[in-house]
Amino acid sequence: MNIILLGSPASGKGTQAERLSHALNLYHFKTGDLARQLAEKDTRLKKIVESGELVPEGEMSMYVIDFLARTRPNFSNILFEGFPRFISQYEALEGFLIDKGDGIDAAISLDVTESEAINRISSRRTCSVCGKVYNLITNPPPSIDTCTCGGKLFQREDDTPESIKVRFDFYHKNTKELIDYLKQKGKLIEVNGEGSIEIIFNSILEKLRYNHVIA
Ligand code: AMP
Repeated sequence: MNIILLGSPASGKGTQAERLSHALNLYHFKTGDLARQLAEKDTRLKKIVESGELVPEGEMSMYVIDFLARTRPNFSNILFEGFPRFISQYEALEGFLIDKGDGIDAAISLDVTESEAINRISSRRTCSVCGKVYNLITNPPPSIDTCTCGGKLFQREDDTPESIKVRFDFYHKNTKELIDYLKQKGKLIEVNGEGSIEIIFNSILEKLRYNHVIA
């Protein structure tokens, strides 16, 4: 089973993807992590990622497919977070997976309003060692700057109100087309991203059951 998780910036898709991948025993593929990793060795990519803009869509598809081919030899049981974001990326991924004898079983879209996203972003912290993501208000770490693993917490370079605005505009301009396309294909499961982590998680599970994606 392969599932894709779409969501506006700060919609909580990272948190829900982590829970969902554990609950359904799926490999959690984080597109943002792959982009940040690639950006460490490429100043052009670094500029794009830090400004909150997106890597050109075809280029990102190439990186993702190359990563899957190198690291996921059976191409199944993957939860995709942050990919695809464009119709072209969806088609590239679906084509690749079908070619390998698998496919995409469901697409979940998680959404919040822009003002809620800005509130959430300003209190988001990430662990520099294990990558765990906290929210100082809704999902606080054991202390303000330290993770449970002992790693130091930091605020992402692209977690500024200016950058979030750019990411929101991009999201609405580009991902809207993908969302409409997935709706037409009958693959889209829409979930309201405002509420407690638990309520949203249960709502995702309920909708996956209702749509016969899980038993
Ligand atoms: P995220 O952690 O999902 O917010 O992603 C961080 C950054 O990774 C984005 O601002 C983009 O530069 C890049 N990125 C993530 N997903 C994609 C994608 N599907 N297409 C292009 N760039 C992406």
